Order: sequence, then structure tokens, then C-alpha cells
Amino acid sequence: MALFDLEMIKATYAKFPARVAQARTLFNRPLTLTEKILYTHLWENNFPAQPHLRGKDYVDYAPDRVAMQDATAQMALLQFMTCGRKQVAVPSTVHCDHLIQAKTGAKSDLADALDINREVYDFLASVSDKYGIGFWKAGAGIIHQVILENYAFPGGMMVGTDSHTVNAGGLGMVAIGVGGADAVDVMAGMPWELLNPKIIGVKLTGKLSGWTSAKDVILKVAGILTVKGGTGAIVEYFGEGATSMSCTGKGTICNMGAEIGATTSVFGYDQSMSRYLRSTDRTQVADLADQIAEHLTGDPEVYANPEQYFDQVIEINLDELEPHINGPFTPDLAWPLSKFADAVRQNNYPRQLEVGLIGSCTNSSYEDMSRAASLAQQAIDKKLRAKAEFTITPGSEQVRFTVERDGILDTFDKIGGMVLANACGPCIGQWSRHSYDPSRKNSIITSFNRNFAKRNDGNPNTFAFVASPEIVTAFVLAGDLTFNPITDTLTNQNGEQVKLDPPTGFELPPKGFDVQDAGYQAPAEDGSHIQVVVSPTSKRLQLLYPFAAWEGTDLKGLQLLIKAQGKCTTDHISMAGPWLRFRGHLDNISNNMLIGAVNFFNAQTNSVYNPMDSSFMAVPDLARAYKAAGKGSVVIGEENYGEGSSREHAAMEPRHLGVRAVIVKSFARIHETNLKKQGMLGLTFANKADYDLIRQDDTLDILGLPTFAPGKNLSVVAHHADGTSDIFEVKHTYNEQQIEWFRSGGALNVIRRGIAQ
Ligand code: SF4
Repeated sequence: MALFDLEMIKATYAKFPARVAQARTLFNRPLTLTEKILYTHLWENNFPAQPHLRGKDYVDYAPDRVAMQDATAQMALLQFMTCGRKQVAVPSTVHCDHLIQAKTGAKSDLADALDINREVYDFLASVSDKYGIGFWKAGAGIIHQVILENYAFPGGMMVGTDSHTVNAGGLGMVAIGVGGADAVDVMAGMPWELLNPKIIGVKLTGKLSGWTSAKDVILKVAGILTVKGGTGAIVEYFGEGATSMSCTGKGTICNMGAEIGATTSVFGYDQSMSRYLRSTDRTQVADLADQIAEHLTGDPEVYANPEQYFDQVIEINLDELEPHINGPFTPDLAWPLSKFADAVRQNNYPRQLEVGLIGSCTNSSYEDMSRAASLAQQAIDKKLRAKAEFTITPGSEQVRFTVERDGILDTFDKIGGMVLANACGPCIGQWSRHSYDPSRKNSIITSFNRNFAKRNDGNPNTFAFVASPEIVTAFVLAGDLTFNPITDTLTNQNGEQVKLDPPTGFELPPKGFDVQDAGYQAPAEDGSHIQVVVSPTSKRLQLLYPFAAWEGTDLKGLQLLIKAQGKCTTDHISMAGPWLRFRGHLDNISNNMLIGAVNFFNAQTNSVYNPMDSSFMAVPDLARAYKAAGKGSVVIGEENYGEGSSREHAAMEPRHLGVRAVIVKSFARIHETNLKKQGMLGLTFANKADYDLIRQDDTLDILGLPTFAPGKNLSVVAHHADGTSDIFEVKHTYNEQQIEWFRSGGALNVIRRGIAQ
């Protein structure tokens, strides 16, 4: 079943050589792979006069694809629906993977999820059908594995509404995790903006062997760079160690690039990618890539002298690399296997292993499963019993079907393994773990990517470690974290000491991949007749309506909603946790608006003064009261307002509840842009000390809007309750286009108007 968009790939490859040549002229030097892909995907071939400055310039791109997981797709698609397009501008897909809870096994868990999430799934299916979006049903697989198997292609650029979108770098793609607002831009046919990244080169020498696998490369890199070391950078892997490993192994490495904060990671096109493409029914893509293979990797001069071209270079010799176990509580606490037993003893980590979990989008390839199964088979042959619980999460129905056909699931079953649905499950905390005493410290080990406290089972007493599927399986057999499978023996059912041999497996299934029903639903050719299904009484979903355009005058008599003190991240503005259930329902989720922000005047959260009746009330309630009274409101904040996750709800909720302007000492850039996209005023104090002028019972006028222009300050009058007032200037960073967003009531309104004309 070929699902990739061949014409799109052909179009990208058709421009690739010319744009690489143009970039080479621009730089007047050899190019990294990252630069080749970025300059090929510049928006409308906007070649700059000078190379973009790394870490400084914001650049507009035209990505080839969009991928969305079910939790984040809801608001992205609700917004997209208001832009007036009949179809998405680029090939896009939705994947139902995050909402399935792992409890008793694949079949019953999936049935429960279909029941609980039916209205969300029905909505996503119908909106996909209508707008030309490929829909992957619940149980079809995890977004990143499905993308790698079906859509990723060398040299491409993709955005996805999930941080592990970066997985597709294993197939040579610059694939970047974004918020829903960015995905909407791309689907609506707008340019997508990215901070021009720094580039970190990782040179891999030697070759993986024995117990060491691709996972250990990224666990080692995480130890070197830490969870912040990749921030603002693309990590480019190269060297004989890179070309000698499997494509899916490369995917594992890129996947966990999210754990070092990297923008994304990427490998150059090679034979392993060609083999993978051909084995997953994409011979045509491999043939096309072969024709421009020299452009789909970094220039040889770059890889020969990496220090001259990369901002930082790391070298890892795979011949010497040990298996690693990272954790607990952070993925960058890296322990080589030989040091791990001591670390467990010295740090008092719970030594007994309770559960080992393999799979997830990080490590669920055929190679991973077959290597883990080789250890399970040894356990059967050597009469060993699993001493810990063992779960297996296949990344896709294609992998699940194939490993079942090849007897791999049966082998896991024989040592007591439980196969979970092809979904995120325990990796995202969707795990109904049966634990007799949650207050007791306990250890689990997974082949997933994240291991922050409470991530998997919600229990702060769970010490979660991350390792390769092979190491997880070996530990399951030992039930003891001080076990070293390379040096230690285990006692079998006959009381004999037996040793595990190094795992073996297959890069690709010897009999090829197979699947009966991959779980894909193609969109309608013409979706114009399709009704998008949203119940008006739904608590989880609500259709959006375009926000009103600017009234054409200065904004006068705005009420102060809250003067936030100190840090105000997007979590303070729109909390996560249980609220995520409402992420497809703007009105319901707006009840969390700014409830985490600290009120400057009473140092409390979610308690603000209502001058209409001199009471204190919850922030969303006061905003609703102002809105009902026909009054706009203003939020005041301090430094780096809106830092953190790029979630668009933090801008949509204030817009929905009648906030007209957010005036702060400084903004986190993404949030500032999100406010602009929603048609709001994001302004900064020209003089930061003017923050102190704002009083609890102020009304505010924003002046200068009829002549709103780039680089021209606006002024604000703060009318105090005692009859006095202060006037001060505010700055802004709106360009002409963004001012048009403000005038029109939001970026999507501008697009809709353009389409209607
Ligand atoms: S398996 Fe885990 S890391 Fe992968 S997409 Fe799902 S939640 Fe995210």
C-alpha cells in the first residue's frame, strides 16, 4: 500500500540540485546536509543576500508535509477549518495514538479507547476526510513509526505537532516538532518560520556490535550534551558508524534528539535508507533519491574537516561504546553498563526491577523486536524465567503483524510478555499500572525516550530508567538492576548458572513486511459534501468561529484583568494536566486561563479584583464578566512572558475571553507570534519601569492604532480609580503582514479573505 505523495517528492527533488548549487555560491564553501535541506526549502525561493546567521535569523520555510497526533490535532484542525481552504496545502496526516490507555492488553484496551474517545476519533476522521488529510485510526500505530514507514523521505522537510516528530531524521528528513498554530500555517499555505539553527556534528567511527545498539549512541550523546545541550541546534550525524547502522536505528537516535532539546537531528542518505525504503514499498522514492544521492548528504569536505563547518563536533567510537542505562528521572543521567550496578548501590536506587517495557515510537522496529526476541528465545532455551513484568508496545500495525507472523510475539508470550496496543500507552502515562503500594519506591526500565518523574505511571516513587530493548529484556530476565549481562550469569530453573549470549536480529524482516489492515483511511477525493461531526453538547470538542476584526478605532476603556508578577509561562497561562481533556473545546479549556499566574497585588494565583462589585474572583470568571459587559481587557506581565511550550491555547484563550492586549516587559518570541496570529496586541513597555504605574483598578486606553505601523510606538493611558492617569509608550514588533492580522482579527481571517477573493 503506497501512501507517499510521489508528485510532491518529485517536486522537492527537482529543485534540490539547483538550490544546493545556489546555496554553495552563497556560502562560497562546501555545505552540511542541514544547510542543503534548509536552503532547498526556503519559502518561495527567498534566497538571502548573505547566509542566514545561525542562532540569530528567523527564516521562512515551505515544509513538504504535516503530521499530527490525535491530542494536538484537535485544536490545529479546528483552527484550520476556519481558514476557508477546501484542502490542506501540503500532504498531511492524523494519527490516533495518544489517547489509548494500556491496561490489560491490546485488544481490550483498544476497544475501551474506541468507546471513551469516540467523539474525538469521529471528529478527526471526518475533518480529515473533508480536507484531504490521511487518517490513521486508533490501533494503526504511533505517529512517528507510521511516518517513518510510509512518508518520510531523504532531504524532505516536515513539521509535526509532537516533539518526537524528529524521528524522521533517521530517513534523512529535517522533521521538527511544532505547536498546532505552526501546523495550521503550513496546512493553510502560509510560510513557516524557524530560528536558523546552529549545527552540531556527531562523527560516528567504528561499528555497532554485540550488546551495543543505536539506542546507546543517543544515550551517550544525551550524557554529553545534557537535556539542554542541543537547544537551538540541528544535530547532523555522519561517519562510517552512521552509514553502517540500520535506518530504523538512525530513527531511534534522531527520536531521542528531543531529549537533548535539539531542533531536530538528521542523517545523510545511504544504503541503509535505500534498503528501508525498498522494504517498505517505496522503491520509487529510493530510485529518485539515488538520482540525487550526492545532494542528500553533507559534502565530503565537511565530513573530512567537521570542525570548520559545525558549531560543535562530538566524536563517538562505536567499537568502544558500551550499552548505556540513563536515569532515573532524567534522560541525560548516562551510566555505561559497567558502572551501572555501582550507581544503583551507591545511590540507593531500588535494585529490584518490577517492570520492563519495550517498544514505543523510539524503539519498535523489526530489528529492535527481533534482537529482544533473541534474548527471550535464549531464556526459553536456557530455562530462565522472567523475573519482572514485561510489556511490548509495537510501533505500528505493520510491525506488529510482521513480528506476529514471524513468531516473535509468540516468543515474548512464552516468557510472560504482554503485548499492548500499537499506541503510546505507558510512554505518555496512559498506563493503568496495577501496583499494590504506590508509596513504595520501585524501579522500571523502558526502551522509551522520556523518564521524568511520574511520566509513565503518574507515581513519583517510580524510578524510571531508559535503555535499549535488548538491555531491558536482559534486565527483565534478571529482575535485578545490578545485573550485567555481559559479565554475569543467571540461575536457571535447574539451578544451573547460565550466561546470555549477545543479542542477534534482523535489520529488516527476511520475509518482508506484511500487514492485513494497516488502519489507514484515505480522504475523500472531493470532501466538499462531508459534514464534520461535532455534537453541540460535546464537552471535549467545539467548532471555532472566526474572531471579530478590529473595529478601526483606538481601544479605550479596557479593564485590567491581571497584572502578573514574575514568571508567567504558557503553563501558567494555560495549564496542562487534566485540562488537556478539553484541548478541542476552546470555551471549556478557557476556564484554565491564567489560573497559574501570580497576581501582583495580592501575591495569589487565580484571585483578581473585580472593580464592578469590589470582589475577588477567578481570572477566567472576571474575563467572562468583562466580556459579558461588553468590555475588553488587558493582561500585564513581566519578563519572558509566555516562555515554555508553544501551545496555541495560551493565545487563543485570552482572545476568546475578550483580552485585547498583553503588555509585558518582554515576550518569549513564539508566544508573542501566537498572540499576533490570533489578532491580539502583544506590546512591550518602552520603559520597563512603567510596569509599576499599573494599579489594580485601572482602565486602559491604547492609542495610535489607526496609524499602527512597523517600528512606530503606540501609547497607553492608564486611568486610575482616583481620577488621575499616567501615559506611557509601548513598543511592538509587528511587520506589515502582522498588522494586517491584527486589523483582520487574526491570521486565519486574512487567509480566508484571500481564498474567497
Ligand atoms: S510513544 Fe511516547 S514519545 Fe512516542 S509519540 Fe507516543 S508519547 Fe510521544
